[in-house]
Amino acid sequence: MSMQPSLNQLISCQDDYDPNSMPVEQARKFIRNFLNPVSATETLPLKAARGRVLAASIVSPLNVPGHDNSAMDGFALHSRDLNTASLKIVGTAYAGKPFPGTVKAGECIRIMTGALVPEGTDTVIMQERTQVSGEIMTMLEPPAPQANVRYAGEDLKAGHAVLEKGRRLRPADIGLIASLGIGEVLVYRKLKVAFFSTGDELVSIGKPLGEGQIYDSNRYTLHSMLESLGVEVTDMGVVPDDPQALEQTLVQASAQADVILTSGGVSVGEADFMKQLLEKLGQVVFWKIAMKPGRPLAYGKVGEAHYFGLPGNPVSVMVTFYQFVRDALLCLMGQTPVPALPLLKATCTEPIRKLAGRTEFQRGILFADPAGVWQVRPTGNQGSGILRSMSEANCFIVLDDHVGNLPAGAEVQVQVMEGIL
Ligand code: AMP
Ligand code: MG
Repeated sequence: MSMQPSLNQLISCQDDYDPNSMPVEQARKFIRNFLNPVSATETLPLKAARGRVLAASIVSPLNVPGHDNSAMDGFALHSRDLNTASLKIVGTAYAGKPFPGTVKAGECIRIMTGALVPEGTDTVIMQERTQVSGEIMTMLEPPAPQANVRYAGEDLKAGHAVLEKGRRLRPADIGLIASLGIGEVLVYRKLKVAFFSTGDELVSIGKPLGEGQIYDSNRYTLHSMLESLGVEVTDMGVVPDDPQALEQTLVQASAQADVILTSGGVSVGEADFMKQLLEKLGQVVFWKIAMKPGRPLAYGKVGEAHYFGLPGNPVSVMVTFYQFVRDALLCLMGQTPVPALPLLKATCTEPIRKLAGRTEFQRGILFADPAGVWQVRPTGNQGSGILRSMSEANCFIVLDDHVGNLPAGAEVQVQVMEGIL
């Protein structure tokens, strides 16, 4: 077993712990203290590594660029000759085809972007600032000494760590690694996440709806969010509100996954038998988070698997996923540090109704007004069952605990959804 303290040990150290009114930030902190990232690694070809987390730092085996080279199309000369208006052109340097000789005083060579700066030169003048007549180049406007030269090692220095262990690889990182001639990387293994929906009223797509039944949308939302994170997903379907079926599915999930996500069954009316079940199978706390939407949230462990019990309301599922699960999964995937999602400021076009004492994540549409100032308009109905509000929105309007009602024109904080996942 791990050396980590148990969930209840962690909680008992907190004198301000209140499961019935858990601030968002405190819940995040509890969860973070309880996570143990994957440690197994695998080697992947570079092209397959996007979104994966480096298990070893990338150290540059070479200088990039390898040699001083020109940043412009123009003429290479020595800075001592900058006061000489006209110089003799004695050759050409192309990218990949260097000028072989040494450039002497009073001489210059024609040079292309990326070509090595030849022996005897240290400055490049842009073509547009020159006039050429036969073999003579005249400088219309001399550059500063050493201008327009990219120096060896300016981008990356041999022996230096270019990307640290714990980095989650983005397209620019993949290119950076390729520029070093490295074709394979050591990354942490994929995180395995199993998920299912709970509820007697839920029907899977492809079956007709009976009276009082609804289609299970949460599994699709969850699947899509998990896929964007790059984890290995196991969809365990819909499980009815039946203790035996739930127990069986949870046990099965904990045997194969690092993380189990469920939706539904954690609200006041339904949590009782889930509580008993999870007490039996692991250690789980049930919180009422001081937030809207997403108030009920269960968190802990089932066997060795991390467990998140998300509320069933379709918007709550997404909000709790974005606000708690995303960070936790990135941490479990080995990413260090997991950066907080940026909060940007915008002017809200409508008045906002908001209760102080909890964090609200209202859905908004962020747009630039004709003057280029960012404005946000709340999507109409903010009910947590209205999935359309999530689909219409492109940002969350994040209203902190202390904020109350706001008039139109108030400055608010927004979190852009694009790029969160
Ligand atoms: P619960 O958290 O189980 O009490 O569910 C809260 C609300 O969300 C109820 O109206 C449920 O019918 C609805 N709901 C629960 N699970 C899902 C799901 N997988 N897809 C769509 N709606 C759901
Ligand atoms: Mg339910």
